[in-house]
Amino acid sequence: MLKEIQNQIQAYSAQLIAVSKTKSNAQIMELYELGQRDFGENRVLELAEKYETLPKDIKWHFIGHLQTNKVKYLVPFVHLIHSVDRFKVLKEINKQALKEDKVINCLIQFHIAEESSKFGFDIQEAREMLESEAYQMMQNIRFVGVMGMGTFTDNMDQVRKEFQQLKSLFDELKINYFSTDDTFKEISMGMSGDYMLALEEGSTMVRIGTLLFGRR
Ligand SMILES: *Cc1c(COP(=O)(O)O)cnc(C)c1O
Repeated sequence: MLKEIQNQIQAYSAQLIAVSKTKSNAQIMELYELGQRDFGENRVLELAEKYETLPKDIKWHFIGHLQTNKVKYLVPFVHLIHSVDRFKVLKEINKQALKEDKVINCLIQFHIAEESSKFGFDIQEAREMLESEAYQMMQNIRFVGVMGMGTFTDNMDQVRKEFQQLKSLFDELKINYFSTDDTFKEISMGMSGDYMLALEEGSTMVRIGTLLFGRR
C-alpha cells in the first residue's frame, strides 16, 4: 500500500505525511523500515512520547488543534505545525521558539469545510494577522504555506470546490505577502478519502492515516 500511494504522490511532486495517531511504535516502525520518515500526529502528549522513543531522524508534523499551554512541549522537536488556526497560538509558538532559539515552520490553517466544527482562519482574519505589527515583529516563526480539511462527505464535487478554494487562498497570500519568499510553497490538503482529488487540485502534502495503518 505504501509504495503504491508513494508512487501516486511522487507523480505530483507532493509529499506523504503518514498520520500515525493512535498507532503503536511497532506500527510506525513498519513504515519507517520501508523508508517513510514524515509522520503526523494530532495530540501533543502522544507525539512527545513517540518522539522520545522512536528514531530521531523522523520528521514530526503536528496536525491537530493546538492548545496554547501545550505549545512548549512541541517546540523543541517539531518539524512543521500544520494547524495554526488562530493568532493567539502563533504568538505562543513564537514565544516558546524564542526561548529555544529556534525558528518553527508553520502553516496557516483555513476553515474551508461546511462543518462549523472544523478550526481555522478565514481570509479576513488571515489578512489582519499578516498585516499586524505583532506578526511582523515575530522572529521565531516562519509560514511556509496553508492547510485545510475538506467537509466529511461523499459529495466529491463539494470537496473539490473546497480544495480549489484553499488553492486560491494560497495564491492570494503568495502574491500579496510572500511573493519574494521561496519557502512559502506548501498546500497541505487531502486525506485517505480524498487525496487523489487534492493532488489534482495542487496539494503538496497529503496527510494519510487509515489507508496506511487501517482503521482507528
Ligand atoms: C486523522 C487526520 C488525518 C488522516 O485521516 P485519514 O482519513 O485516516 O487518512 C489527516 N489530517 C488530519 C488533520 C487528521 O486529524
